Amino acid sequence: MQKKPKKVEYFGENLQPVFRFAPSPTGFLHVGGARTAIFNWLLAQKTGGKFLLRIEDTDKARSTREAIEQIFNSLQWLGLNWDERVYFQSEQRSRHISVARSLLDRGKAYRCFCTKEKLNEKRRRAETLKINQRYDGTCRHLTQKQIEQNLKQGKPFALRFKVEPGEVAFKDLIHGITRVNNAVLDDFIILRSDGSPVYQLAVVADDHDMGITTVLRGDDHIANTNKQILIYRALNWPVPEYGHLPLILGPDKIRLSKRHGAASVEEFRKSGILPEALFNYLCLLGWAPGDDREILNRSELSRIFSVERIHHTSAVFDVKKLYWLNSKYIAALPQKELWRIANDWLAEKGLTLVAQQQERFRFYTELLQPRSKTLQEFKENLSVFFNDPESYEDKGAQKYFAKQTYRTILMRFYEIVKSQPPSLYANVQAIEGFIREFAEAEGVSAAKVIHPLRLALTGKTTSPGIFEMIYILGRKKLQQRLNKALQFAAKVGVE
Ligand code: GLU
Repeated sequence: MQKKPKKVEYFGENLQPVFRFAPSPTGFLHVGGARTAIFNWLLAQKTGGKFLLRIEDTDKARSTREAIEQIFNSLQWLGLNWDERVYFQSEQRSRHISVARSLLDRGKAYRCFCTKEKLNEKRRRAETLKINQRYDGTCRHLTQKQIEQNLKQGKPFALRFKVEPGEVAFKDLIHGITRVNNAVLDDFIILRSDGSPVYQLAVVADDHDMGITTVLRGDDHIANTNKQILIYRALNWPVPEYGHLPLILGPDKIRLSKRHGAASVEEFRKSGILPEALFNYLCLLGWAPGDDREILNRSELSRIFSVERIHHTSAVFDVKKLYWLNSKYIAALPQKELWRIANDWLAEKGLTLVAQQQERFRFYTELLQPRSKTLQEFKENLSVFFNDPESYEDKGAQKYFAKQTYRTILMRFYEIVKSQPPSLYANVQAIEGFIREFAEAEGVSAAKVIHPLRLALTGKTTSPGIFEMIYILGRKKLQQRLNKALQFAAKVGVE
């Protein structure tokens, strides 16, 4: 479908905005990267602009095919479709080299013949003397004759960008005016002596060639932006707009990483987070709609998202909030979708439902739906339908199985249940009536029956309503599980 350009917010009226996401394929897609991609995608949606994907795979030692596949999968899973083909930075190598050469031809770069050993030695000396470790400009001042001599001798050289006195100032879309005095920048390398282009140069050439109007990326790139703007200026190319997103931190206020638990899109997918929930959550991480809404779907976000509301300070990843949001999205899943997930799970486990189980199993999935924080949790609980508990939650066992009063209640319940006709299990109300009558006859509150029963039947202290659970499990399973629990309880019994 052709996108209709809407009014453009941040750049010239006639320009179609072009955003990009430019990950390096060195591992799983980090949630920080995913958030960058989402923000760029949303802005493209909102402005009728384009969202391009560029894989920055020039570091061959660290880039892997699997990581590239992972990026594609994670972006697609999040529903972040990109425009045009996928761009690969490594394909542009000769273009990058020619841009570096043109900087040399324009006198904006120079050949540096300093060897690695020499540079290391200088660096070490500077370190010892505790002075600035920037390149000292030795080769900047070589005469034409010296250069020619070096070339004649076949000395390898790198190309260095000539940083002239002055300053780089730009209006960051998030942080406002940002200034850096060029005196703090070194004459940085743009082409290594082995002929390979350096990241700073490659990014500028690619962003320019892809017509990128707005670069929205992580805060960790601010220092690169200063250098990249200098390259744009030296080439007389229009400079795109820049915005730098504050980092995502773990609860200890250190950059979120694997140390904090899950940090990649793939890990959250595997743990049963829905893509819509992760998308929504990442939008709230460093951005807010300006009112108290928290559950926002992607079309609403595409309408209301704005750069102005992106926070200036780092955001702390709150996994509990993500789970909360996820539970809301699970609760809102259409029945059909929930049923599909349950059926996939059955197939995966090689389980089939006999005719009498169909309706009860479906009822069980519906009861679990509003109680599941993740799809993982939903699936784990599905197994309660099929499998007798293999263990009992310790806290519950100490509370209910270790005490004689509860054991007696369970024992008496088991005895009475055995003599009940199958019609007891015809509906939830009948079961509820039966349990309440039983409690009354025993002279105890219904809760005193319900809690130990729940533990006995599910192994857990939380589950959907116990009357429903008994209805779902049916006569045979109820007796079987009670029997098993009583045997276990006899062993933990201390009073
Ligand atoms: N490839 C860089 C990264 O993954 C991003 C470069 C950019 O956005 O300009 O951190």
